[in-house]
Amino acid sequence: MEFGGINFDTYLKQYPDKNGYFGRYGGAYISDELKKAMEEITEAYFTIAKSSKFVGELRRIRREFQGRPTPISYLERLSTSIGNVQLYVKREDLNHTGAHKLNHCMGEALLAKYMGKKKVIAETGAGQHGVALATAAAYFGLECDIYMGAVDIKKQAPNVARMKILGANVIEVTEGLQTLKEAVDAAFAAYTKEYKDCIYCIGSVLGPHPFPLMVRDFQHVVGEEAREQFISMTGELPDAIVACVGGGSNAAGFFSGFLNDPVDIYGIEPLGRGPKLGDHAASLKYGEEGIMHGFNSIMLKDENGDPAPVYSVSSGLDYPSSGPEHAFLRDLGRVQYDVIDDEETIDAFYKLSRMEGIIPALESAHAVAYGIKLAERMGRGSVLINLSGRGDKDMDYVIEKYGIR
Ligand SMILES: *Cc1c(COP(=O)(O)O)cnc(C)c1O
Repeated sequence: MEFGGINFDTYLKQYPDKNGYFGRYGGAYISDELKKAMEEITEAYFTIAKSSKFVGELRRIRREFQGRPTPISYLERLSTSIGNVQLYVKREDLNHTGAHKLNHCMGEALLAKYMGKKKVIAETGAGQHGVALATAAAYFGLECDIYMGAVDIKKQAPNVARMKILGANVIEVTEGLQTLKEAVDAAFAAYTKEYKDCIYCIGSVLGPHPFPLMVRDFQHVVGEEAREQFISMTGELPDAIVACVGGGSNAAGFFSGFLNDPVDIYGIEPLGRGPKLGDHAASLKYGEEGIMHGFNSIMLKDENGDPAPVYSVSSGLDYPSSGPEHAFLRDLGRVQYDVIDDEETIDAFYKLSRMEGIIPALESAHAVAYGIKLAERMGRGSVLINLSGRGDKDMDYVIEKYGIR
């Protein structure tokens, strides 16, 4: 299928190019020292990770440890309440640890093991990526250093406990505002010193090449499964698919199964409290081109051109940029990016819980909210939503801040 002058039959093989570019976006804007480390990972990725031994082992792990394939559920009561539209969800909430993040963490940690590394390093904000990586490290017997701001450590006690129980070292970062940005800086500094013995496992389709490529490919299983399952359930493709976009990993993997199909694709960013800078994290809608954390993409900038402060009710979506592939797919017009605010998210969180018995992560509730709106607009046809994770982690916060509805 052709779209915006691009042939999508061969898209996944062609993009990114060998330097990590999706059109003008992507690349590797890092020190020469780190460039060497990234080149080593790229080389290993294209040799080791494409070998039948690696692919076979990852496939077995997905089946026996992660619980894949995750099912697709038809949302019967919700669909009926809207009318003549069929809504479905791909159940990444049923993946081990309750979200899609383990899909790429297991891939990254398996690659680390094959490369003979002893340790994996990462930063974490809310702790979701840290928990997924700590799980993978425990499984493979790798050391795991997770850098986390002191403020976040106080806020995210259950995830800190999980990481420690899983055997990870949670390293407290006390510089600056003591949150995610400082944790990223501290983790990169440590990695620059230790890269011979470890790899830095980036938590989304972000950072320098090859991470946007690798993380998308490790998440491709979501889109691949979903396409096959949907066709065997209904005999046809969905008319539209929807996923939430923070850094963009769950969306990139899910979309990659459908890019070459006549399917409308929607990526949903958090509008938070509204369109004022600082009140949302909708980088693809309100941002401009720029370089941060080692790659070129669309980002939200403050008056000095630095990454702007962002906000969303869901901590997994509050990042001031999105992966370079999303910026590319936006410019091509292959994917429509739109927004959902906090209130609509909370409504969808309760709706899916009450009508279907599924408590979604607040991140995923953005996609559910948009899927419902889209279904109402379409009036007929089918919508498949990627339910990126489960909402246990968000329950206390929702009840405290919004009450029972
Ligand atoms: C981290 C997270 C996200 C956002 O990350 P992406 O890289 O945009 O997928 C979405 N949903 C859940 C459940 C998460 O934990």
